[in-house]
Amino acid sequence: MRVCVFCGSSPGTRPGYRAAAEHVGQTFAERGIGLVYGGASAGTMGILADATLAAGGRVTGVIPRALVDREVAHSGLSDLRVVADLHERKATMASLADAFLVLPGGAGTLEELFEVFTWAQLGLHRKPIALLDVDGYYQPMLRFLDHMATEGFLRPEYREMLIVDTDVAGVLDRYANHEISREMWSSEHTE
Ligand code: AMP
Repeated sequence: MRVCVFCGSSPGTRPGYRAAAEHVGQTFAERGIGLVYGGASAGTMGILADATLAAGGRVTGVIPRALVDREVAHSGLSDLRVVADLHERKATMASLADAFLVLPGGAGTLEELFEVFTWAQLGLHRKPIALLDVDGYYQPMLRFLDHMATEGFLRPEYREMLIVDTDVAGVLDRYANHEISREMWSSEHTE
Protein backbone atom coordinates (compact mmCIF):
# COMPACT_ATOMS: atom_id res chain seq x y z
CA MET A 1 0.00 0.00 0.00
CA ARG A 2 1.12 3.55 -0.72
CA VAL A 3 -0.27 6.62 1.03
CA CYS A 4 0.00 10.14 -0.36
CA VAL A 5 0.65 12.65 2.42
CA PHE A 6 -0.02 16.36 2.01
CA CYS A 7 1.63 18.56 4.62
CA GLY A 8 3.29 21.90 5.21
CA SER A 9 6.48 23.24 3.70
CA SER A 10 6.88 24.91 7.13
CA PRO A 11 7.36 22.99 10.38
CA GLY A 12 4.66 24.88 12.33
CA THR A 13 5.17 26.36 15.77
CA ARG A 14 4.18 23.51 18.13
CA PRO A 15 6.50 20.60 18.89
CA GLY A 16 3.46 18.33 18.41
CA TYR A 17 3.50 18.94 14.64
CA ARG A 18 7.06 17.66 14.30
CA ALA A 19 6.37 14.71 16.59
CA ALA A 20 3.27 13.75 14.60
CA ALA A 21 5.14 13.84 11.28
CA GLU A 22 7.92 11.70 12.75
CA HIS A 23 5.41 9.22 14.13
CA VAL A 24 3.64 8.93 10.77
CA GLY A 25 6.96 8.21 9.04
CA GLN A 26 7.94 5.57 11.61
CA THR A 27 4.51 3.94 11.43
CA PHE A 28 4.57 3.76 7.63
CA ALA A 29 8.03 2.18 7.70
CA GLU A 30 7.02 -0.37 10.36
CA ARG A 31 3.89 -1.37 8.46
CA GLY A 32 5.54 -1.48 5.04
CA ILE A 33 3.43 1.41 3.73
CA GLY A 34 5.14 3.42 1.00
CA LEU A 35 5.12 7.21 1.42
CA VAL A 36 4.28 9.42 -1.56
CA TYR A 37 4.83 13.11 -0.84
CA GLY A 38 5.89 16.44 -2.36
CA GLY A 39 9.62 15.60 -2.51
CA ALA A 40 10.86 18.58 -0.48
CA SER A 41 13.28 18.66 2.43
CA ALA A 42 11.64 21.78 3.87
CA GLY A 43 9.23 21.88 6.81
CA THR A 44 6.91 19.07 7.83
CA MET A 45 7.52 17.43 4.46
CA GLY A 46 11.22 17.01 5.19
CA ILE A 47 10.60 15.83 8.77
CA LEU A 48 8.19 13.19 7.49
CA ALA A 49 10.50 11.93 4.73
CA ASP A 50 13.54 11.82 7.04
CA ALA A 51 11.64 9.87 9.69
CA THR A 52 10.34 7.37 7.13
CA LEU A 53 13.80 6.82 5.61
CA ALA A 54 15.49 6.59 9.05
CA ALA A 55 13.08 3.79 9.98
CA GLY A 56 13.82 1.92 6.74
CA GLY A 57 10.67 2.92 4.81
CA ARG A 58 10.07 3.55 1.10
CA VAL A 59 9.62 7.14 -0.06
CA THR A 60 8.59 8.55 -3.43
CA GLY A 61 8.89 12.33 -3.86
CA VAL A 62 7.14 14.27 -6.62
CA ILE A 63 8.34 17.84 -7.11
CA PRO A 64 7.83 20.41 -9.87
CA ARG A 65 11.02 21.56 -11.62
CA ALA A 66 10.44 25.15 -10.50
CA LEU A 67 10.32 24.12 -6.82
CA VAL A 68 13.45 21.95 -6.78
CA ASP A 69 15.50 24.87 -5.46
CA ARG A 70 12.81 26.79 -3.59
CA GLU A 71 11.60 23.87 -1.46
CA VAL A 72 15.01 22.15 -1.66
CA ALA A 73 14.32 18.78 -3.25
CA HIS A 74 15.19 15.96 -0.84
CA SER A 75 18.55 14.54 -1.90
CA GLY A 76 18.21 11.24 -0.03
CA LEU A 77 15.23 9.75 -1.88
CA SER A 78 15.73 6.72 -4.10
CA ASP A 79 12.64 7.73 -6.07
CA LEU A 80 12.45 11.48 -6.76
CA ARG A 81 10.25 12.42 -9.70
CA VAL A 82 10.76 15.90 -11.10
CA VAL A 83 7.61 16.93 -12.96
CA ALA A 84 6.65 19.93 -15.09
CA ASP A 85 4.27 21.80 -12.79
CA LEU A 86 1.96 21.72 -9.76
CA HIS A 87 -0.86 20.09 -11.73
CA GLU A 88 1.35 17.22 -12.81
CA ARG A 89 2.59 16.90 -9.23
CA LYS A 90 -0.91 16.44 -7.83
CA ALA A 91 -1.99 14.10 -10.62
CA THR A 92 1.15 11.97 -10.20
CA MET A 93 0.88 11.83 -6.40
CA ALA A 94 -2.80 10.89 -6.61
CA SER A 95 -2.28 8.16 -9.17
CA LEU A 96 0.62 6.57 -7.25
CA ALA A 97 -1.28 6.32 -3.94
CA ASP A 98 -4.07 4.13 -2.57
CA ALA A 99 -5.17 6.66 0.04
CA PHE A 100 -4.58 10.26 1.14
CA LEU A 101 -3.48 11.63 4.49
CA VAL A 102 -3.39 15.33 5.34
CA LEU A 103 -1.12 16.56 8.13
CA PRO A 104 -1.10 20.15 9.39
CA GLY A 105 -0.06 22.55 6.65
CA GLY A 106 -0.82 25.85 5.00
CA ALA A 107 -2.59 27.05 1.87
CA GLY A 108 -0.74 24.59 -0.39
CA THR A 109 -1.79 21.67 1.81
CA LEU A 110 -5.43 22.82 1.82
CA GLU A 111 -5.38 23.27 -1.94
CA GLU A 112 -4.19 19.68 -2.30
CA LEU A 113 -6.80 18.41 0.20
CA PHE A 114 -9.67 20.20 -1.50
CA GLU A 115 -8.62 19.03 -4.93
CA VAL A 116 -8.71 15.33 -3.98
CA PHE A 117 -11.90 15.94 -1.95
CA THR A 118 -13.66 17.52 -4.93
CA TRP A 119 -12.34 14.78 -7.23
CA ALA A 120 -13.93 12.25 -4.86
CA GLN A 121 -17.24 14.17 -4.86
CA LEU A 122 -17.23 13.98 -8.63
CA GLY A 123 -16.53 10.25 -8.54
CA LEU A 124 -13.12 10.63 -10.22
CA HIS A 125 -11.53 8.41 -7.57
CA ARG A 126 -12.62 6.36 -4.57
CA LYS A 127 -9.50 6.58 -2.48
CA PRO A 128 -10.05 7.40 1.19
CA ILE A 129 -9.05 10.85 2.46
CA ALA A 130 -8.02 11.36 6.07
CA LEU A 131 -7.07 14.34 8.19
CA LEU A 132 -4.62 13.87 11.03
CA ASP A 133 -5.94 16.36 13.55
CA VAL A 134 -2.78 17.14 15.50
CA ASP A 135 -3.41 19.32 18.58
CA GLY A 136 -6.84 20.24 17.20
CA TYR A 137 -5.27 22.04 14.23
CA TYR A 138 -8.09 21.17 11.84
CA GLN A 139 -11.01 21.84 14.21
CA PRO A 140 -11.80 25.34 12.83
CA MET A 141 -11.83 23.97 9.27
CA LEU A 142 -14.01 21.01 10.26
CA ARG A 143 -16.45 23.43 11.89
CA PHE A 144 -16.56 25.37 8.65
CA LEU A 145 -17.22 22.18 6.68
CA ASP A 146 -20.11 21.45 9.09
CA HIS A 147 -21.36 24.97 8.41
CA MET A 148 -21.18 24.33 4.66
CA ALA A 149 -23.32 21.21 5.15
CA THR A 150 -25.82 23.01 7.42
CA GLU A 151 -26.16 25.82 4.90
CA GLY A 152 -26.79 23.41 2.06
CA PHE A 153 -23.53 23.82 0.14
CA LEU A 154 -21.99 20.46 1.01
CA ARG A 155 -23.91 17.20 1.07
CA PRO A 156 -23.67 15.63 4.56
CA GLU A 157 -22.49 12.32 3.09
CA TYR A 158 -19.54 14.09 1.48
CA ARG A 159 -18.70 15.81 4.77
CA GLU A 160 -18.78 12.39 6.43
CA MET A 161 -16.49 10.76 3.91
CA LEU A 162 -13.54 12.72 5.30
CA ILE A 163 -11.86 10.52 7.89
CA VAL A 164 -10.66 12.52 10.91
CA ASP A 165 -8.45 11.00 13.59
CA THR A 166 -5.84 12.19 16.05
CA ASP A 167 -3.68 9.09 15.61
CA VAL A 168 -2.16 7.56 12.48
CA ALA A 169 -2.95 4.01 13.64
CA GLY A 170 -6.62 5.01 13.85
CA VAL A 171 -6.45 6.44 10.35
CA LEU A 172 -4.96 3.22 8.96
CA ASP A 173 -7.70 1.13 10.63
CA ARG A 174 -10.32 3.37 9.11
CA TYR A 175 -8.79 3.07 5.64
CA ALA A 176 -9.30 -0.67 6.04
CA ASN A 177 -13.02 -0.14 6.79
CA HIS A 178 -13.42 2.12 3.85
CA GLU A 179 -15.46 -0.41 1.83
CA ILE A 180 -18.69 1.08 3.25
CA SER A 181 -17.90 4.45 1.79
CA ARG A 182 -16.92 2.83 -1.48
CA GLU A 183 -20.39 1.32 -1.71
CA MET A 184 -21.92 4.69 -0.97
CA TRP A 185 -19.85 6.33 -3.68
CA SER A 186 -20.54 3.71 -6.30
CA SER A 187 -24.30 3.82 -5.69
CA GLU A 188 -24.15 7.63 -5.84
CA HIS A 189 -22.34 7.62 -9.11
CA THR A 190 -24.37 5.00 -10.93
CA GLU A 191 -27.61 6.94 -10.38
P1 AMP B 1 2.02 24.76 2.34
O1 AMP B 1 0.97 23.95 3.00
O2 AMP B 1 1.50 26.10 1.83
O3 AMP B 1 3.28 24.87 3.13
O4 AMP B 1 2.40 23.97 1.00
C1 AMP B 1 2.59 22.60 1.05
C2 AMP B 1 2.97 22.07 -0.31
O5 AMP B 1 1.90 22.31 -1.23
C3 AMP B 1 4.19 22.76 -0.94
O6 AMP B 1 5.04 21.74 -1.46
C4 AMP B 1 3.60 23.56 -2.07
O7 AMP B 1 4.52 23.64 -3.14
C5 AMP B 1 2.43 22.72 -2.46
N1 AMP B 1 1.44 23.44 -3.25
C6 AMP B 1 1.06 24.72 -3.15
N2 AMP B 1 0.12 25.02 -4.07
C7 AMP B 1 -0.08 23.89 -4.78
C8 AMP B 1 -0.89 23.54 -5.89
N3 AMP B 1 -1.72 24.42 -6.47
N4 AMP B 1 -0.82 22.26 -6.35
C9 AMP B 1 0.02 21.37 -5.79
N5 AMP B 1 0.81 21.63 -4.75
C10 AMP B 1 0.77 22.88 -4.25
